[in-house]
Amino acid sequence: MEHGMILSGKALSDKMKLALREQVAAFPERYGRVPHLAVILVGEDPASQTYVRGKEKACELVGIRNTTFRLGAETTQEELLSRIAALNADPQVDGILVQLPLPEGIDEARIIEAIDRDKDVDGFHPLNVAGLWMKRPCTVACTPKGILRLLDEAGVTLQGKRAVVVGRSQIVGLPTAKLLLDRNATVTICHSRTRDLGAVTREAEVLVVAIGRPRFITGDMVGEGAVVIDVGVNRDPVSGKLCGDVDFDAVAPKASVITPVPGGVGPMTIACLLENTVEAFLRKQ
Ligand code: NDP
Repeated sequence: MEHGMILSGKALSDKMKLALREQVAAFPERYGRVPHLAVILVGEDPASQTYVRGKEKACELVGIRNTTFRLGAETTQEELLSRIAALNADPQVDGILVQLPLPEGIDEARIIEAIDRDKDVDGFHPLNVAGLWMKRPCTVACTPKGILRLLDEAGVTLQGKRAVVVGRSQIVGLPTAKLLLDRNATVTICHSRTRDLGAVTREAEVLVVAIGRPRFITGDMVGEGAVVIDVGVNRDPVSGKLCGDVDFDAVAPKASVITPVPGGVGPMTIACLLENTVEAFLRKQ
């Protein structure tokens, strides 16, 4: 089948991890220690467990110290807050990540706000979010950061382009739209109430899809030559395999560049988390 360039997040993230490993290897001599990422996982959500294991493995590969706290689903908000306070106060901890979603009864916003903004390697703290929107120094969320890296790697110029982001979540859609805007793309944000979504997405020269619905973006919704970034991670209802929000087989022949699922945005998110952790460490030196 003819198709556009498949943009491998796996390959680019491997490259980033190798570079980070080299950088981190010099830290013990220069700074006396390596960066340290603390991860908190509450409860037994299987997807969250997989993500946390992926983060542990990636830290190990790069030489970042990782401590994962696996807390029972019965953990209270107070317990979680005191755990975060201890990590905030610990000078040996550079990054703190609380794996989302949290069990019911815990206020996610309260938890995220409790993390020291300088240790917020996820970039979810209100001060980091505000920093992004006000163009102040900040930690940028890992998935949007990874998406921009992929576009740069593919040599996509964004200035003046029509970019469409489908999905308006705080963690993916909105920050991605802002980063594209900062690169002087003309950005449209779509969501579940958008009328005639296909008419909007067909006009996109750069299309980023983050909705969480298996193969929702069909071939007829994509214009010839579009650059397509698929953020979705879904289980195919029939085969049970991982698939994106984009119908890859139908869209790839029309796209000039497209990311696969798995092996696209997912590994970039982890590589950018490692990078944010190294940056948090270096800011303190
Ligand atoms: P959310 O559920 O928070 O947001 C989904 C967004 O999609 C909402 O803005 C929603 O609109 C919109 N949406 C839902 N249905 C439709 C529709 N039929 N038409 C148009 N828009 C629609 O999801 P996330 O942003 O957290 O995640 C999106 C996907 O990306 C998921 O599959 C998730 O697993 C994946 N993901 C992958 C990551 C990675 O590293 N690869 C990282 C994070 C997420 P509305 O606001 O109107 O409800």
